[in-house]
Amino acid sequence: MHVRDFAIHTGYFPPDAQAALVSDLREVLTHAPLIQPVTPRGKPMSVRMSAAGRYGWISDRKGYRYEARHPSGVPWPAIPDRLLRMWQDLVPDARAPECCLINWYDASARMGLHQDRDEADLTQPVVSVSLGDEGLFRMGNPTRGGKTESVWLRSGDVVVMSGAARLAYHGIDRIRPNSSTLMPKGGRIKLTLRVVT
Ligand code: FE
Repeated sequence: MHVRDFAIHTGYFPPDAQAALVSDLREVLTHAPLIQPVTPRGKPMSVRMSAAGRYGWISDRKGYRYEARHPSGVPWPAIPDRLLRMWQDLVPDARAPECCLINWYDASARMGLHQDRDEADLTQPVVSVSLGDEGLFRMGNPTRGGKTESVWLRSGDVVVMSGAARLAYHGIDRIRPNSSTLMPKGGRIKLTLRVVT
C-alpha cells in the first residue's frame, strides 16, 4: 500500500519471523546494550537506542552523529541476516545498509515530526520495521507544514521511504499499549536501516 509517497508493506514479517527477529535483536543487544540518549542540550530522550552494522546513530551533548562504535567502545554487531534479506528483497537497487538503528519505545514515548537527513547519500532509501505495540505513524511533506496523514503501524509492518518520501517529515504520535504480545513486557521496537556514507 502507498500512503503519499511512503510504501507500507503491511504484515511483511509474519508472527514466527517477528519472534525470530526479536531473538536476533536480543543477541545484538547482548553485545551493544540499549542506552538512553540525551539531546545536545542534555535532555534525556524517551527512546532507548542501540544499533547494528558499520555505524550507529548517537545523540549526546556533543550533538547528533553516526559513530563506528557503541559508547562502551565496542564495534556495533553485524546486521542480522534476516534484515539484510529484507533489504535485498524490498530495495534491490540500493547500496547495502550500513546502519540498523534499534529504537525501543515504552507506552509513553513519541517521536516528533522530523526528516532523516544525517546520511551522506540522500538518494538511498530508508527502510524501517515495526515490532511489538502498534504506533500511530504520521507522514508529511519534504518541507515543514502542509497536510499530513496517519496510519497505525502494526508488528511486522515495514515502511520504505525512497524517492519523494526519502526526505518527507514523519514521526510517531503515540503508541497503543498492550496491542501486541510479541514481547513479554510490551513496548515497541522500531528498526531503521540506512546507508550512511
Ligand atoms: Fe526518522
